[in-house]
Amino acid sequence: MIVTLLWIVYNADSFISIRGYGVQVKFWGVRGSIPSGGPETAGVGGNTTCVEIRCGDELIIIDTGTGVRYLGMSLMKEMPVKGTILFSHVHWDHIQGFPFFAPFFVPGNEFRIYGGTSLPTTVEDVLNQQMTPPCFPVKTDLFGANITYHDVKPGEIIEGNNYKVTLAPLFHPNGCYAYRIEHEGKALVFSTDCEHYEDRPNKNLIELCQGADALIYDAQYTEDEYYGLNGQFSRKGWGHSTMREGVKVAEAANVKKLILFHHDPSHDDNFIKQIEAESRQLFPQSIAAYEGLQIDLSQNALPKSLFD
Ligand SMILES: [Zn+2]
Ligand SMILES: [Zn+2]
Repeated sequence: MIVTLLWIVYNADSFISIRGYGVQVKFWGVRGSIPSGGPETAGVGGNTTCVEIRCGDELIIIDTGTGVRYLGMSLMKEMPVKGTILFSHVHWDHIQGFPFFAPFFVPGNEFRIYGGTSLPTTVEDVLNQQMTPPCFPVKTDLFGANITYHDVKPGEIIEGNNYKVTLAPLFHPNGCYAYRIEHEGKALVFSTDCEHYEDRPNKNLIELCQGADALIYDAQYTEDEYYGLNGQFSRKGWGHSTMREGVKVAEAANVKKLILFHHDPSHDDNFIKQIEAESRQLFPQSIAAYEGLQIDLSQNALPKSLFD
């Protein structure tokens, strides 16, 4: 019998990275569109999208929004680092932290990068362009790590030593992918940025989510914001969804836990507290993601909410 060990790594900012068994998920950036620091968002956090996933001792990172800088600081304690980075897409809020991920600069580290876009360009080109003068002083050729880039297509399967990733295209300007990560009988789906269809369910997404232990979903807008009600202007066509649409997907696909994610930069802690409370009325096993939230997929219960 193989006994796996649980070990805890502390970094300078006291963030903790846990791994060693099953599927572990940690949120380093939960915000959409643009970083939103300040006292009103200090609880949930203002960093943009970055999620760390451990399948046993294998590392997966989804997106390199500004939250990835802190994850990078944590990983610097466990050199050499080998991992897979999945890009949902390459909008700014999902790649802004890429140049600031310290492990990229260390020889001996290895990363394989997967992503895609609906435009005739590659993920590698987009990430290189982001780090090009005069907009950015350091080019990717200063990275010391061994980095490989792969452009994914619908239907593709990505494999680790002990995990499998399937993907589905989402309804989002310039293209976006949802990822389903499976390991030791557990499944996690990451689905942001994903606008819903008003007239029909997204069959691709529901199929991808079927029976998943947890769904991380784009709950950026309220219904009023999305549909332009009660004095709001409409956000239709901006590429994002709502908590209520996330509940519909979770129910249709028999998902066990719903994690509200990609919070709007204008939503402060109190506002997100209300959205979470409404979500729990509709789908009790839901929680609003916040920086530092950790979820162990082997546990039936959700961890404590920021607001409990
Ligand atoms: Zn986004
Ligand atoms: Zn986007």
